[in-house]
Amino acid sequence: MILILLGPPGAGKGTQSRRLQERRGLPQLSTGDMLRAAVAADSDIGRETKAIMAAGGLVPDRLMVRMIAERIEQEDCKDGFILDGFPRTTAQAEALDGLLVARGLKLSLVIEIRVDDLVMIERVIGRFTCTKCGIGYHDTFKTTRIDNVCDSCGSTKFDRRADDREDTVRARLEAYHIQTAPLLDHYLKQGIVVPVDGMAVMDEVTFQINQAVDGVND
Ligand code: AMP
Repeated sequence: MILILLGPPGAGKGTQSRRLQERRGLPQLSTGDMLRAAVAADSDIGRETKAIMAAGGLVPDRLMVRMIAERIEQEDCKDGFILDGFPRTTAQAEALDGLLVARGLKLSLVIEIRVDDLVMIERVIGRFTCTKCGIGYHDTFKTTRIDNVCDSCGSTKFDRRADDREDTVRARLEAYHIQTAPLLDHYLKQGIVVPVDGMAVMDEVTFQINQAVDGVND
């Protein structure tokens, strides 16, 4: 089964695709995570993309397509995968179609997580994660029970994404609306888009996604 999670920054793609990964045993391929790892490792790709990501822009298609083409060749993708953050442009979507056709594969579903822009900005600014167990928090909406101590693992180290600042979030939202949202038409024509209400509470969003995914017979 091959799934795409589509939605603006802060829509919950990461959380929901990790939950799907656990439930379905399919790997979550997050191009954002791959790029952040490249930046942290100071690799060639990391050096090429660091400034673009910090500004909230999109990394060139050729790089992203190469990254995904290499990733889906790996053994853990043989029964399918979950794409989180890719494709983000029509060129990427067309390249993905080509990669799948060449391998005799097809997309199962595109899950569109619908959210409200203004709420998204609030949600993204102020979010932070525990560096040890990865659980997510928010300065206003989900604080730790004890100041600076992770509820789940007790660690006192937390991380904030460099691109979760207000100006960058606005740039990322704009990139989404201008370059990524048009992809919906591409997939609507293929009849594989399922919208879910990303403003609902997290477990309800998971429930809606599970229902859609369980309805696919692949
Ligand atoms: P994300 O974690 O998905 O929000 O991605 C973080 C940043 O990585 C984005 O704002 C882009 O700068 C870059 N990025 C991730 N995936 C892609 C992609 N498919 N195409 C272009 N840029 C990407």
